[in-house]
Amino acid sequence: MPQTLPKPKQPTDESAPSMSHLTSCPLDCPDSCSLEVTVKENRVVKIEGSRRNPLTSGFICSKVSKFGRHVHSDKRILQPARRRGAKGSADFEPISWEAAMTLLSQRLEETVATAGAQAILPFCYGGSNGYFSQDATDARLFRRLGACRLERAICAAPSSRAYKGLYGHLPGMAPEDFEHSRLIIVWGANPSVSSIHLVPIIQRAQASGAKLVVIDPRTTGLAKKADLHLAPLPGTDLVLALALIRWLFDNHLADVDFLQRHTTGAEELRRRSQPWTLEAAAAVSGVEASDLLCLAELYATSSPAAIRCGWGSERNRNGGSATAAIIALPAVAGKFAQRGGGYMMSNSAAWQLDPSAVDGEPEPSVRSLNMVRLGRDLLSLHPPIELLFVYNANPLMTLPEQGKVRKGLERQDLFTVVFDQVMTDTARYADLVLPATTFLEHRDLRHGYGTMALQPIEPVIPPVGEARSNFEVFGELCRRLGLDRPTDALDLDTFKHRLLAQGSLPTEDSGQANHLGRALDQDAIVFPTSGRTPIQFVDLFPKTEDGKIHLVPQDLDEETPEGLYTYRPNGHGDGKAMEFPLAMVSAATRFTISSTLGHLNRRIAEVEVHADDAAARGLAPGDRVRVWNDLGEVHCQVRLSQDVRPGVVQLPKGLWSHNTYNGNTSNSLVPASYADLGGGACFNDARVEVTKI
Ligand code: SF4
Repeated sequence: MPQTLPKPKQPTDESAPSMSHLTSCPLDCPDSCSLEVTVKENRVVKIEGSRRNPLTSGFICSKVSKFGRHVHSDKRILQPARRRGAKGSADFEPISWEAAMTLLSQRLEETVATAGAQAILPFCYGGSNGYFSQDATDARLFRRLGACRLERAICAAPSSRAYKGLYGHLPGMAPEDFEHSRLIIVWGANPSVSSIHLVPIIQRAQASGAKLVVIDPRTTGLAKKADLHLAPLPGTDLVLALALIRWLFDNHLADVDFLQRHTTGAEELRRRSQPWTLEAAAAVSGVEASDLLCLAELYATSSPAAIRCGWGSERNRNGGSATAAIIALPAVAGKFAQRGGGYMMSNSAAWQLDPSAVDGEPEPSVRSLNMVRLGRDLLSLHPPIELLFVYNANPLMTLPEQGKVRKGLERQDLFTVVFDQVMTDTARYADLVLPATTFLEHRDLRHGYGTMALQPIEPVIPPVGEARSNFEVFGELCRRLGLDRPTDALDLDTFKHRLLAQGSLPTEDSGQANHLGRALDQDAIVFPTSGRTPIQFVDLFPKTEDGKIHLVPQDLDEETPEGLYTYRPNGHGDGKAMEFPLAMVSAATRFTISSTLGHLNRRIAEVEVHADDAAARGLAPGDRVRVWNDLGEVHCQVRLSQDVRPGVVQLPKGLWSHNTYNGNTSNSLVPASYADLGGGACFNDARVEVTKI
C-alpha cells in the first residue's frame, strides 16, 4: 500500500541567499566531526567538514556529506499518523500532534492499569542521539512509569564489559597519537569506512617508517597497504591474542616490572594462555604460524606500539574474552606510558556524563530485556509486551533472528509506536508514527568515542514538517501523565548545566560546569585535557578500586560461561559446519555503518564470496543467489571477491528490506545467541550456505 503522508516541498527560489552554520555530527561513529552546513531557504544544500575539531581536518564521510538527502527525503515522516491498513503496509492517516499525544498518553495509562508497566518496552539505540535526546527526558518518562529496562547489547556490550573489567573507566589513546607509533595493529576494525580520520594519521605514521598490521578476515583497504595481514576465521581472535601473550611470557619479553607495579592477575593470565602455542592458534584460526611469529616479534621489538581494537572481534561467542586478551597485550608487553603506545577502543570514558541522572531519578528495579532477543520476547514472553515504543531505531533490520522480530511486530495485540525521522521498515508496522527531528533541526550535546571532543550541536534549519525533538516529546508525555516534578530540569539550558555539573568531568577545570557551559554556548568544542592529548599511564590511569589493571577480574571470570579466556569453537568442525560450511560476517561499508541512512542506498545487496568457494558452487558474478541457513534466507546477488578469505562470506550490515529480492537481510541468518560477556550479539557466528536460484 502506498505511503499516504505528504511529500516535502521542493526549493523554489534559486536566487535566495545561502547561509553557513557550524554544528557537529552525532551519528554512531567514533569521529564526531565538526561540520559546516550551508542552508538555503531552510533547505540543507551542502555539508562539509570544518576544522574546529582538529581531527576532522576539514573533511567528512560521503554519508554525511549527503545527509541533506535524508533530511529532505520523500521517506521523511512529516506529521503524526495512525495506522489505517494492515500491519506492515505503511498505510497511515495523518492526525494532529494533539490527537497523537492524547492517544499515546491514554494508551500508556491503560497499559499500566491493565497489564502493569512491565508490559511497556521502550526501544532505542544509537541513531543520531546525544546527551539531550537519549537517556534524558525519555529516561524520566520510562523510569517513572516503571517500564521494562532495555539492555542495549547489539554493539560494544562485550567489549565494554572487558575494558571496564580490566581497566575501569580508562580512556584509550587519542587517534591523533597514532602518528607517533612505530607499529600500528588494526584489529577487527575498518577505519576506511567507520573511522575515516584515523586513516591519514596511519598513513603519515607509515610514511615516517611505522609498520602496519591488520587483523581481519577481510582484506580491507588498509589491509592492502599493510606490512602484514592476518585473516583469522571469525570468532578466533581470542586464540591469536592468547598465543601472542604466551609467546611474550615464554620468550621473556613480558614487561615484568610493569606487570608487578600496575597489574593483578598476570600469572593467572599466563597460565590461561598456555594451551595456545603459535601453532595451536594457527591451526584453529586458519592463519599461518609464521605470520603469527612475525607479528609477535614485531610487537615485542617495536615502541611505541599501538593497537586499534575495533568491534569486529567482539561479535561472536568469544567476543568478550577476545577483547580482554587483545587489550591485555600492551600491559603484558609494557607498551604504555609513551605517546603513540597503548590501545584505543572506545574513548567514551573521557567524559563520564550521565543524562539519566540529571533529575536524580534512581534506576528502578524492573524487568530487564536484552534487545538481542526482541523477536523471541515479543513472541513468547510472559507476561507479554503490549506496548512497544521504538525511537531512533529500526529493530526489524538491526536485530538477530529477523524473522521472529517481524512476526512479533505483526502481533495484532501489540501496540507499536515509532518515533523516527523516516519511514523505516519497522515504522511500517507501527500503530502510531511520530515525526522526529534530525540533528540539523534540534539542539544537542555529544562527545565522540574516538575523538575526545565534547561538542555542541545546534539546529541549522527549522524542524521539517511537524517534527519534534525527543527532549520535547518525552517531556510533554511526562507532563500529560503527571510524572514531572517541580525540581526537574524542564528546559535544555537547565538540563545542560546540571549535566555538566555532575562532578565527574575529567577536565583540568573539573567541576566547573559554568565554564564548560559557556564555552559550549560559544560554539566551542571542549577536550578533557587542554593543550595536548592525554597519554595512558602518564595522564590517565585505570579507575579500578586499586588503580591497577585487573588482567583476570573475578566478576568477568564468573560471568563468562566457561571462565575468562576460554575459547569456545564457533561451529568450525561441528555438525552445523558441515551443513552450513560458510562463516558469514556482516561488516560496515562506505554506504552503511548503521541502518540510519539505509533508505538512501537503493542498490540490491551483494554477498561477497571468495572465488574458490564460488567455483565449488558454480556461482558466477551477478548470479541471483539464496544465502540461507536454518533461520532464514536472503535473496541477493553474488560478487566474487578476493577480499574475503575462503570459507567466509560477507553481507553488508545496515541494509533495509528494499536491498534484497525477498526483503530479508543478513540478520535473518543471525542467531540470537549471546557472547561470553555483556549479553552481546553474535552477528559473526552466523553460518550459511550460498546457492544459485
Ligand atoms: S566520519 Fe563519522 S563523525 Fe564524521 S561526518 Fe561521517 S559519520 Fe559523522
